[in-house]
Amino acid sequence: MDFLKSLSIEKTNRGTSTGGTWLEPLSEDIASYSPVDGALIGTVSATTAGQYGLVAAQAQKAFAEWRSWPAPRRGAVVRQIGDALRRQKESLGRLVSYEMGKSLQEGWGEVQEMIDICDFAVGLSRQLYGLAMHSERPGHRMYEQYHPLGVVGIISAFNFPVAVWSWNAMLALVCGNTCIWKPSEKTPLCGVACQNIISHIFENNNVPDGVCNLITGDRSAGEWLAADPRIALVSATGSTRMGKAVAATVAGRLGRSLLELGGNNAIIISKDADLDIALLGAVFGAVGTAGQRCTTTRRLIIHESVYEAVKAKLKQAYNQLKIGDPLDPANHVGPLIDQAAVQSYLNAIEKCRAEGGRFLVEGGVLEGASFKSGCYVKPCIAEVEPLYTIVKEETFAPILYLLKYQTLEEAIVIQNGVPQGLSSAIMTLNLREAEQFLSYAGSDCGIANVNIGTSGAEIGGAFGGEKETGGGRESGSDAWKNYMRRQTNTINYSAALPLAQGIRFDL
Ligand code: NAD
Repeated sequence: MDFLKSLSIEKTNRGTSTGGTWLEPLSEDIASYSPVDGALIGTVSATTAGQYGLVAAQAQKAFAEWRSWPAPRRGAVVRQIGDALRRQKESLGRLVSYEMGKSLQEGWGEVQEMIDICDFAVGLSRQLYGLAMHSERPGHRMYEQYHPLGVVGIISAFNFPVAVWSWNAMLALVCGNTCIWKPSEKTPLCGVACQNIISHIFENNNVPDGVCNLITGDRSAGEWLAADPRIALVSATGSTRMGKAVAATVAGRLGRSLLELGGNNAIIISKDADLDIALLGAVFGAVGTAGQRCTTTRRLIIHESVYEAVKAKLKQAYNQLKIGDPLDPANHVGPLIDQAAVQSYLNAIEKCRAEGGRFLVEGGVLEGASFKSGCYVKPCIAEVEPLYTIVKEETFAPILYLLKYQTLEEAIVIQNGVPQGLSSAIMTLNLREAEQFLSYAGSDCGIANVNIGTSGAEIGGAFGGEKETGGGRESGSDAWKNYMRRQTNTINYSAALPLAQGIRFDL
C-alpha cells in the first residue's frame, strides 16, 4: 500500500506529538482496522495522562511565541500546509477512504476541503478585522481589535477524520493560537498522517515546537481537554451525547466551547419540484458516506401529489445502487465504520418496524467474500409518521424515512419537529415556497438550501446548526471570531476626562 508509505504510516505508530517531537510510546496501542476489508492497517500508541500534561504545557509555551508572529507570516506557514496537502491529496484521500470507509471520491473531496480552508485562512491572515466606531466623547477614539485566544483543543469525529481538524486548526493558527488535536479513536492513523505532513512544514519554517499537537486515545483524552483550564477553547465535533458532556465540563470552568453535533436533516419535496434534481439530491444525501455524514438526508417530506411518483423513482434508483469496496469507483456505497454501527442500524430498523414503519426498500447486512469486514449494509427506505420516536433520532446509517404532507406550513412543522437543527432543504421551483422556507417562520436549521440536497457544504459559509446540533459555527464567513478574543479600546487624546453618559465627577 504505497499511500501508507508516502504518508509515513508504519505498522506501529506513535500517537503523541508536539509538532517537532513524537513522544515515546508509554501505553496500550489503539488498533485501526479498515472497515473496507477488516484488515489491521496499523496501531497507534495512545497518549497517557502524563504525556497529555507535557503536551498541554508545551502548547502553552509555544503560544507565547507564536502569537507574536505577524498574522501574515503565520498565514505563509498555512499556505505551505495547503501546498503539502495538494501534493499528498492522492495518498491522504486514499487513507481517509481506507480507514473510514467513505468512497475514494469523497476521500479526495475531504482533502480538497482541507486545501480550500488553507487558502481561506491565508486570505484571512491579512484581514482579521476589528471595527472602529464613533465615541460620544470629544477627543476620543474607540475601536475593537481581536487577539489570539490561547490553546485550542480540537476533538473530532470519525466521519470527517481530517477535514474537521483543518477547519479548526487552520483558522486557529492564523489567528495566533496553538492547537491540541484529539482525532477519533476509530481513525487515529488519519491524525498521525496529518501530523507527519505538517511537521515537515513546521521544521522548514522554524515554527516553535508545540504549535500543533496531537494526542490520541478514547473519550478520556477528550475529557482531559474539556476539563483543563489551560485550554481556552474546546471545539468538539461528534454526537450530541458527547457534546452535552463536553459543554457541561467546559462551562463548569467558564471556558469556551464550539460544538458541532448530530443532525437529522430533511428535504421537503414540493409539488413544484424538479423531480430529477430532487431525486439526485435525495439519493446522494441519503446514501453518500453510507449515511454517516452529519448532513446526511434522513427524512424526505414529500407533497402528497408527487408522493407516489417520488416513491417509484426512489425504488428504481435504490435498485441501481452498487455496494462494495469504496476504493472501487464503480461502487456508490461503502461500509459502516464498525460492527457497533451495524448493530445500531439493525436496532433502528427493528424499532421503526415496531412503531409501524413500512419498508419500501428493505435493509440488511451483506455477507460474502467482498463484504468480509461485516460492515456493509443495504441502504433502506421506510414510510413513517412524524410522531414515531425513531424518526426524531439520528441513526448514523443509510436509513431514509418518507413522510407525506399537504401544505407547506405542515411540511415546515414536520421538518422542524426534531431535536436537531443542522441542515435542511426544499426542492421547489416556486419562489414563494422557497422564500417561505428561508424566512424566520421557515427552517430552524443552521443550513437551509433551495434545490440542493442537505449534504455537501462549501467551506466559504459558516457551518453548523441549532438546537441539539450545538449552535457552533465553523469554517468560513466570520467563524474565525470563535478563535479570538475581542477587546474594545477607547483612547482619550483630549486635554480633559469627560465621562461616558455625561456623568459629572469633579474634585
Ligand atoms: P462520538 O461522539 O462518539 O465521538 C466524537 C469524538 O468525541 C471522538 O474523538 C471521541 O473520542 C470523543 N468523545 C466521546 N465522548 C467524549 C466525552 N464524554 N468527552 C470528550 N470527548 C469525547 O461521535 P462519532 O461516532 O465519532 O461521530 C458521529 C457523530 O458526529 C454524529 O452524531 C455526527 O452527526 C456528528 N458529527 C457532526 C458534525 C457537525 O459538524 N455537526 C460533523 C461530523 C460529525
